[in-house]
Amino acid sequence: MPNEIYSYTVAERLMRYVQVDTEADPNSSTVPSSLKQLNLSRLLVDELKLMGVTEVELDANGYVYATIPGNVTDKKVPVICFCSHVDTAPDCSGNNVKPILHKQWNGSDIILPDDTGIVISPNEHPYLKERIGDDIITASGLTLLGADDKAGVAIIMNVAQLLIQHPEIKHGDVKILFTPDEEIGRGVDHVDMKKLSADFGYTLDGGERGHLEGENFCADSCKIVFHGVSAHPGYAKGKMVNAQKVAAYFMSMLPYNTNAPESTSGYQGFVHPVASGGELETAWVQFIIRDFKEEGLKQLTNMLHDLAEQATKKFEGASFTLDVKEQYRNMKQVLDNHPHVMGFAVEAYKRSGLQPIITNIRGGTDGARLSFMGLPCPNIFTGEMAIHSKQEYVSVQDMMKAVDVCLQILQIASE
Ligand SMILES: [Zn+2]
Repeated sequence: MPNEIYSYTVAERLMRYVQVDTEADPNSSTVPSSLKQLNLSRLLVDELKLMGVTEVELDANGYVYATIPGNVTDKKVPVICFCSHVDTAPDCSGNNVKPILHKQWNGSDIILPDDTGIVISPNEHPYLKERIGDDIITASGLTLLGADDKAGVAIIMNVAQLLIQHPEIKHGDVKILFTPDEEIGRGVDHVDMKKLSADFGYTLDGGERGHLEGENFCADSCKIVFHGVSAHPGYAKGKMVNAQKVAAYFMSMLPYNTNAPESTSGYQGFVHPVASGGELETAWVQFIIRDFKEEGLKQLTNMLHDLAEQATKKFEGASFTLDVKEQYRNMKQVLDNHPHVMGFAVEAYKRSGLQPIITNIRGGTDGARLSFMGLPCPNIFTGEMAIHSKQEYVSVQDMMKAVDVCLQILQIASE
């Protein structure tokens, strides 16, 4: 049960915040990518000030920084940051979102009124089935909801409000960070770590209640270029080596029932050709490589190298080059050096009545990048589900639980 003396404002906040269109624009090079994101960032600054938070700033890049001073004076308490992103994914429209609150949802199919073809059925959403009786918020059928990550924003704003209303909650300095452009991979490009000056942090951008994410992929990109030999096609006998055919032969040898996105899950890694092209003389294949360990990345790269070698051996005169670029790394490498960061979260989940389920992310996160920038930063659940789609939904009770978890983290760190 949530704490009865707290006023939970997450539902009301989420319903308001999602109505502000903050869709990120991957084709823009401005910072933030779409200026409309600032509309929400400005609103958040105003609301924080209204609450009585005096140290609040919206910087030139569209990042919101706020500090709630600690109230523990007799000992040194770590400075903790809570972080979420204001933008929504460009995969699905975020314009004119009309949120709907389904109070004490009874478990029947949720048919969205603005497009009755869009149905959120507990049969297709097993987690939703577990939330019967909760208050569920959805969009109306024409847009995504934007609980990713305005649920996180609402949770952090509610936490700030409760810290100010309840000085009996003991805590050190609390830093709040709202970033733009997470959905297009630029969320932490312009974070000012000095200004933030926190010891560690938590992103509020996870899904199911109880999930705690402290691991993500190690990621490299890899480009293989095949070189052939050109000749006049009428007089090419014994001379021409067509690089496109070498590349095609190579592609045909790629695994598809192992080491591929379509055949892996859990802790399994993969190689994935994302694009290819070519002409007679050269042909290229662009890959992403993913594994939870750097050693695994190396093995997968070696596999690609072996296959490319086999392909060029098949076509005499052909050759290839292989270039690897580092993309990002598993935050566990950082978190393992600061075990209290996950430890505080695990204890906070338990004190909030949750059995923590530590899971991995088969992708990268802003928290992962922040971890390598000096802010160890696992990811906490918010209840946001079926994200980037018109079926997106969130349980109000999940958001309330996440508020409890954040407050518990602060209290545990102050003990
Ligand atoms: Zn998100």
